[in-house]
Amino acid sequence: MERRPFLTATVLSAGIGELYAVGSSTARAHSRTQAEAADRFVAADSTNYSGSSRDAADIDWIVIHCTVGRYAGAISHFQTPSANVSAHYVISNYEHTDYAPGHVTQMVPHEDVAWHARGSNTSSIGIEHEWHRNYGRYFTDECYRASAAVVRELAERYDVPLEYYEYGSAHCNESGGIIGHRHAPQDSACNHLPSKSCPGPDWDPGIFMKYVRNGGSGNDSDGSDSSDSSDDGGDSSDDGSDSSNNGGDSSNNGGGSSDDGGDSSNNGGDSSDDGGDGGDGSDGNRPFEMEDGAVTTADLNGREGPGLDYGVVETLPAGSVGRIMNGPETNDGIRWWGLHFSTHDVWVWCSENYLSRVAFHVDETVTTTTALRARQAPGLGYTVKRVLPQGTTETIVNGPETNDGIRWWGLYVPAYDLWGWSAEPYLVSNE
Ligand SMILES: [Zn+2]
Repeated sequence: MERRPFLTATVLSAGIGELYAVGSSTARAHSRTQAEAADRFVAADSTNYSGSSRDAADIDWIVIHCTVGRYAGAISHFQTPSANVSAHYVISNYEHTDYAPGHVTQMVPHEDVAWHARGSNTSSIGIEHEWHRNYGRYFTDECYRASAAVVRELAERYDVPLEYYEYGSAHCNESGGIIGHRHAPQDSACNHLPSKSCPGPDWDPGIFMKYVRNGGSGNDSDGSDSSDSSDDGGDSSDDGSDSSNNGGDSSNNGGGSSDDGGDSSNNGGDSSDDGGDGGDGSDGNRPFEMEDGAVTTADLNGREGPGLDYGVVETLPAGSVGRIMNGPETNDGIRWWGLHFSTHDVWVWCSENYLSRVAFHVDETVTTTTALRARQAPGLGYTVKRVLPQGTTETIVNGPETNDGIRWWGLYVPAYDLWGWSAEPYLVSNE
């Protein structure tokens, strides 16, 4: 791979000392594998990343993420054995959660491979930024600046170009740069970009790169709450005709679970024989990307590892929804994915043969395909807060939950500044 010369290294090193002197009373690490821009090092559990000995020749990318959760939550998550996910850094964002904004925790040494962006892990360093819609749809100036300081230090050490790549612009033959998770190139398929929204619409690469390039002294900070209040839904409203008994959440078609599992699979789903497409090594058409939602199509054994020899941690009922966090691994003729099932609070490996894609992911923008009820909670018995007209734009903020045979998504509706739950069959992705 041809590398671009790193032009600004000498300029940057001059300003770094005083920058890092701000804001931390903790002793700083000075090893090759830890950044001085970090306030502390808290090790991720060793089961959540791969030991390696990478250096500047291997590290080409810095991948930007958002946590969709609290700072402290992300940190403890990466410390949880077999969480199967990690990042090199986590940076706090909010004034009102766990730490003051701009606090930096390093969790994985640079030379090791954190698990944060499948397809790009081995060539990148991952940075998580605290963010959750419930806490505020913005990134603070402090968060941008702290992250920029980390990025500048990393770029200098590992010769990563100070380029920020947007959609479709980064390919495998690129010499590297800075990139949002959703646009990170896949090692195995250069033009196949993951279909996720991380780091989300509130992340402003312009502001961020200004701090990266100007060494944190970028002045005019209009950064903090640039929330794009999406005025599209507009005033249409009333045509939604509250009657709307046509569509809404009228049951039967939802669910998404079961039937193909067919043979009731009392032995727990992963019972091999149909290994089918598992094939050896041929991971041609993977149905999942990291962090995708997946639903069990039969009662399914969640195992400690990717193979039939591993113990069963829990049998997940058909219709359980988890999140893809690792994989795939092929063993026993089956392709296995590591998942987190938050409703069961388990981290397990499951056979791909009994998993199917969940339609949406958190922070995805969707549109209603009919007049659709937004309810207080996920289920037919809950109060209808409003009937949303067909064509209303919403953002997924939670879910899915399965109730009354329907899969429900928690949504935020900017046009009405409304939070509610709606039925999946009447939503379509805008991505
Ligand atoms: Zn991400």
